[in-house]
Amino acid sequence: MNINEKKPMIIVIRMVKNVKDDATHLEKRPFLHCTTVPIVLWIFLILLSSVFHSLKLQQASWIVLAAFLSHHIRDGTRRGLWFCPFGSTRPLPYYLYVSLCMSLPYLLYWLSYQHTFAESSSDNVTLIDI
Ligand SMILES: [Zn+2]
Repeated sequence: MNINEKKPMIIVIRMVKNVKDDATHLEKRPFLHCTTVPIVLWIFLILLSSVFHSLKLQQASWIVLAAFLSHHIRDGTRRGLWFCPFGSTRPLPYYLYVSLCMSLPYLLYWLSYQHTFAESSSDNVTLIDI
């Protein structure tokens, strides 16, 4: 492969590196990196799910919360968690980052079953006689 055949690949690699450098050297955090936003969004979706008795909306609220929090925890290793307008924590130490990442799914699962607004029904449960 000569240099002219490698040029498109080199250009793509430089573009990816530039985007990564731009993303990691921001002076100010983007709005959605405020951890208060997913928490408020989660509360809003939970309230909506209880008003409309929607199990799917309730599940979506937990999925959105898990997606945001796992990303914020990862980003928190560099700048801490940002709870606007209250402020930020210090950067998360590595052991806390790993612990939170490992326990987050279990914690959210446990919390989601503490407050299930949708009525549970045994109508669609199939019992198997062994
Ligand atoms: Zn981020």
